[in-house]
Amino acid sequence: MAKTAQAGIAAARAFITERPGDVPAGDLEKKDGVLLLKEAVEGLKQSLLDASEDDDKEKALMLQGQILLLDEPGFTLRAEELVRDQGLDPVSAINAAGNELEEKFLSNDNPYIKGRAADIRGLEEELAARLTGRKREEPNEDVILVGDEISPAFLLQLDRRFIKGIVTGKGSATSHLAVLAGNYGIPYIYGSAEAIQDIPDGSLLLIDGAKLIIDPDDETLKAALKRKEELDALKTSTATVTVKTRTRILANAGSVADVEAAVTAGAPGIGLMRTEFLFLERDTEPSEDEQYEVYSRAAELMGDRELTIRTMDIGADKKASWLPMKDEINPALGCRGSRVSLKFREIFKKQLRALLRAGACGNISIMLPMITSVWELDDALSIISECREELCREGISCPVPKVGVLIETPAAVMMAQELAGKADFFSIGTNDLAQYAMALDRESEDPGRYEESGLEPLLRLVGLAAKAAHENGIPVCVCGELAGNEDAVAKLIEAGVDRLSVSVSKLEKTRLLAYEAEKAATVHVEKPFDIKAPADGELFAMEEIPDPAFSSGSLGKCIGILPENGSVYAPCDGTVTGIAETGHAITLESNDGRSILIHVGIDTVSLKGKGFDVKVKKGEKVNCGSLLLEADLTIIQNAGLSPMIILSDTG
Ligand code: PEP
Ligand code: MG
Repeated sequence: MAKTAQAGIAAARAFITERPGDVPAGDLEKKDGVLLLKEAVEGLKQSLLDASEDDDKEKALMLQGQILLLDEPGFTLRAEELVRDQGLDPVSAINAAGNELEEKFLSNDNPYIKGRAADIRGLEEELAARLTGRKREEPNEDVILVGDEISPAFLLQLDRRFIKGIVTGKGSATSHLAVLAGNYGIPYIYGSAEAIQDIPDGSLLLIDGAKLIIDPDDETLKAALKRKEELDALKTSTATVTVKTRTRILANAGSVADVEAAVTAGAPGIGLMRTEFLFLERDTEPSEDEQYEVYSRAAELMGDRELTIRTMDIGADKKASWLPMKDEINPALGCRGSRVSLKFREIFKKQLRALLRAGACGNISIMLPMITSVWELDDALSIISECREELCREGISCPVPKVGVLIETPAAVMMAQELAGKADFFSIGTNDLAQYAMALDRESEDPGRYEESGLEPLLRLVGLAAKAAHENGIPVCVCGELAGNEDAVAKLIEAGVDRLSVSVSKLEKTRLLAYEAEKAATVHVEKPFDIKAPADGELFAMEEIPDPAFSSGSLGKCIGILPENGSVYAPCDGTVTGIAETGHAITLESNDGRSILIHVGIDTVSLKGKGFDVKVKKGEKVNCGSLLLEADLTIIQNAGLSPMIILSDTG
């Protein structure tokens, strides 16, 4: 089965792109080989340069990365050497040099570097086509591009209006091609090497989720296109699909070991990874590579799960002896947090470069501590862009990271509207926010009644920041100690907080407190039907469910939820009407007479009940939010199965 890099439905004629090696060497004259090669490289560079003069910044950066790859010493210069010294014709030379470089990239452990092998292959093809004077054909009507591999450079040269879908034999969900397909919303599946061998040019293709159908029959095609229409309508509908997930309980980490512990404890993400451990207790500053090792390791451990890494929060009580900082009378009110980063810009840039590079290994967001003024955020954002562009010029393109602000001062709360307009998320550092709001040293040994009386103003500040965040469509987390405080969890949720990030030891307890506070009733999906979600997690549209039985709609309208944990709740008030013998599925009749199926995982019937602990009995009345079953996600995943929970309205 193919894999989906960009989910969707598309139907159009196949456009078979030339495969590597399709371009014949021709009878190029050896004596002009080096010159011909140079001309081809310069010509390709110029056309990439022309194409990069576009408003689409992402595209421009990607093209600049491709240009840099052409300058990679082991590539075109090596090819020239092969022509000159070994008498190869330029096409063979470019293929040979390209193969050597591909092997080098493929043997690298870093998935980002590995992914560059496909770019080299694409450039090889482009050069070979230029050298032989064979213009690559370009589609001028709606098509689905098909190829063993398709280079992003090739896609970028085409008229995007005609590209309805992409199918490749090789590929990955994180390749440049996948990123482009995602940006342009073009359904893209890969990993169907065998299937594509048999696709005749011009045949009708249907991409439906992860399925590729060659010459679909009328009925299948019509049904798929109807679903596509519904889905498109859903996407553009003014009746918004409101997905308010339950509060996510994330973990705080202060080292890679903490990240490992968070993974073991099943944390769905890291809301705050402090990085001071890299900067303190040493005599010299950490290098970019040393930092990269740490961030990329943490990113790999977290995989797709979110990992919010805070830039260095030096100053106040965290002194870095190697940093030339003046003694201050009141360091807590002096140069600390982002103030240090903006003052020592070169040190900040090293950290940002390491973070941006590591971004290719996982799902890293960057968080800026102690931002008190809007200009600080502007400055930091422009330094981040500068680093990204620098990296790109060096041939290391990296994903655009989410950048958030750690709200730690009353000034930041008062400027929250402006900050939220520029940031991707807020996190509230209540440890510092409390000290600055109450003028009470966070290290105070005798806070007296001020500690208690500080809770209310702190909650009001959190409420103001959360309101501004939501008005600007960004989420808000609390990552200070208050997030795990028994007396505060419910109040923070009431104040509008979407995420709580706590130390690993407090994860379980905070989850329970949050669950109690919400009574499991906050996930709400208005379309395709009005019902609460049965679990915490990421929502998927029906056609994205990797099981045709559900994605085709034959089992009623469905949604998929990729769960964060194994607790499955009743999505509405009703009666349990059926429980699968193997415990992986439950049916309910809602009080208003609808039949609801909750199916945990794909093909999990094969587990024969292993990993499912059903908490209800047939005939039992349940309320919305009652715990129906506990599934062991590790057992499901270890069996190689998807744990996606499917909620189906069977009518
Ligand atoms: C905070 O201030 O709440 C926070 C999370 O940062 P730190 O405790 O590291 O200062
Ligand atoms: Mg702080």
